[in-house]
Amino acid sequence: MDIKKVHIVIPIVMAGIIGYFGTEIMDIKKVHILIPIVMAGIIGYLGTKIMDIKEVHILIPIVMAGIIGYLGQVDLDETSLVISRIPHISRPSSQPVRQVDLDETSLVISRMSYPQPFVDKPQRTDVLLMSPWLAPIMWEGTFNRDILNAQYRQKKFVVGVATFAVKKYVRFIEGFLGSANKFFLSGHRVNFYLFTDHPEKVPSMKLAPEKSLFIIPVQNYSRWQDISMNRMDIISNRIRTHWHYEVDYLYSMDIDVQMFEHIGVEIIDTLVGTISSWQYTKPRDSNSYERRPESRAAIPSGEGDFYYAASFYGGSVSEVYKLTTACFKGVTEDRANGIEAKWHEESHLNKYLLYHKPTRLLSPEYYWDEELPRPQIIRVKRLSSVRKDLEEVRS
Ligand code: UDP
Ligand code: MN
Repeated sequence: MDIKKVHIVIPIVMAGIIGYFGTEIMDIKKVHILIPIVMAGIIGYLGTKIMDIKEVHILIPIVMAGIIGYLGQVDLDETSLVISRIPHISRPSSQPVRQVDLDETSLVISRMSYPQPFVDKPQRTDVLLMSPWLAPIMWEGTFNRDILNAQYRQKKFVVGVATFAVKKYVRFIEGFLGSANKFFLSGHRVNFYLFTDHPEKVPSMKLAPEKSLFIIPVQNYSRWQDISMNRMDIISNRIRTHWHYEVDYLYSMDIDVQMFEHIGVEIIDTLVGTISSWQYTKPRDSNSYERRPESRAAIPSGEGDFYYAASFYGGSVSEVYKLTTACFKGVTEDRANGIEAKWHEESHLNKYLLYHKPTRLLSPEYYWDEELPRPQIIRVKRLSSVRKDLEEVRS
């Protein structure tokens, strides 16, 4: 073509290239500034070769005004996010966002015989089976353990349990481990991680072949509240340094508990909280949430789902990492502000689970306080706190 056309085509093509690729490497605002400048430069340089300088001086402002007017208007009408995404949508990307393994064989569970489920025959009508955000709530009589086991076994997961026995709480180790060895994820791989300031006092116990015990020395704190709260920090750090590579799911449990019935794979999910046995029927404004706005654990009045127990929570390693990191951040900020939440880390846990909804809930069967009379809806007591003389054991 003739040189004049070339000089017109070059700036237009360059503007196109900058507009198209520019959004991938810089934000849309910079692209809109760059295009008129580059075009003006090109016209100014090439233009003098094909037309007289006067024409160039007229052309540059006109073209620049056109471009600014056109792109500027788009920028006002649409968010930059939407505009910058257009090239990604219209062009097939060489790098797929998700890599799905299409050749992976599907997991098949073997043939089993069990009672048929019917949509018009709920397993239980006396309790809530599903939260308003569709997280299932685990209750005796609502699931078939054989089906759950058959599905779970194929995944080859390793579950970690973090528990602490500091100072006089070493006395609870035997009851905890003895009962957990029998009832906690029976037949499945579990690593128990026991943090203690008295490793020499850990009784030697024979565990099932699929269960392992790891003893991790830890310092003690003079206040029992600090021992309890610092669990969040220790768990979060340990996930980053070790557990991240060692286990798939992680559960934090009090040591002063015993298990009396199976706690199986029905507890496995991404983010899992246990509904406290003390407060499961209380209206939200009369339960134990921290309400003082000065605390980082504060939940405004009129808000709250269930009251969750800090004695038993868990989920995938990455979700438990986020949870413990966030809760301990709240604890630290409260400390700096000279305030301690009403129920220590439990208050922070309750705030976290209010704004990060658990994907599965354990009914109070999973942490039934020994001191409470058992109502009809609690058909089994799977785990119970051990009665303790609070003053004596915490001194
Ligand atoms: N804990 C401990 N030593 C202490 C106090 C607490 O090891 O002196 C740990 C232990 O794992 C315990 C947990 O922190 O189960 C929570 O404390 P506690 O059980 O006393 O709280 P509660 O269940 O009575 O609210
Ligand atoms: Mn306890």
